[in-house]
Amino acid sequence: MLDVCLLGTGGMMPLPGRHLTALLLRHQGHSILVDCGEGTQVAIRKYAWSMHSIDCICFTHVHGDHVAGISGLLSSMGTEGRTEPVHIIGPAQIEPVISHLCIVVAVPFDVIFHTVDEGTFDFFGVTITPFPVNHNITCYGYRFDIDRLPVFLPDRAKALGIPVQEWSKLQKGESVRVGLKKFTPDQVRGPSRRGISLVYSTDTRPCRSLEDAAYDVDLLVTEGIYGDPDKAQSAKEKKHMTAQEAALLAKNAGARESWLTHYSPSFRNQRDYVRDIAAINPTVRFARDGDRKTILFDDQEEE
Ligand SMILES: [Zn+2]
Ligand SMILES: [Zn+2]
Repeated sequence: MLDVCLLGTGGMMPLPGRHLTALLLRHQGHSILVDCGEGTQVAIRKYAWSMHSIDCICFTHVHGDHVAGISGLLSSMGTEGRTEPVHIIGPAQIEPVISHLCIVVAVPFDVIFHTVDEGTFDFFGVTITPFPVNHNITCYGYRFDIDRLPVFLPDRAKALGIPVQEWSKLQKGESVRVGLKKFTPDQVRGPSRRGISLVYSTDTRPCRSLEDAAYDVDLLVTEGIYGDPDKAQSAKEKKHMTAQEAALLAKNAGARESWLTHYSPSFRNQRDYVRDIAAINPTVRFARDGDRKTILFDDQEEE
């Protein structure tokens, strides 16, 4: 299960009633934050999610509306008693930028930087995969995956004479030896099962890497900076994506559901474009600040 909360829907600057775009994910008591613009810590408090459980923060790029809130957030986490390290993932520029932003605050725990070049990351059962997108500075999107183990077949394990204490290893995908015999997971597990997947990517033109990453995801959170077709040229020049472009990209990717966010401060009338978007792709909608969702495995019931 993956809990998702969209902390804001704004781009460029926070507005009364509209926080800057950032996403909070929670899985098994651990949280991952994606982006941290000015005021993100206020949004976290507003939507009643703890900042204490944030173990990892992923940054898409170093524009101010995505990073300027980090010093306040880390400082507040320290004030609330955090002592465990926080991991930060981002493009190469993220470490010098955050180090400078944090000169004015005291952070009483270790901050461990990772660059997106390191490949994929595993945090408490969530696999994080960064991928490059097409903005006016280096920018990355992130895919988050939670794998699901195949069904374990105890009757087969019993029939093969495998002791019960070896079952969990087999279920996790390890082979075991009993006496002289070796048993492999495929002997006692059913077919593979679909996991949970989510993609977050703002500040980009439509691009192949985003479309590929969003293939068949449960939720795509992406940018719809404008709804007005007259602003399409401006979006192109500033390397952003309109709501219509995002709806088409989500359709091509086969995302199960998509939320649009990172609205221009001038874009206030999302309602006027709901039909436009639905005509392109009915699984896309304009997100609102504080939107949340729990993504379950297929056929899983909420606990
Ligand atoms: Zn932005
Ligand atoms: Zn940007």
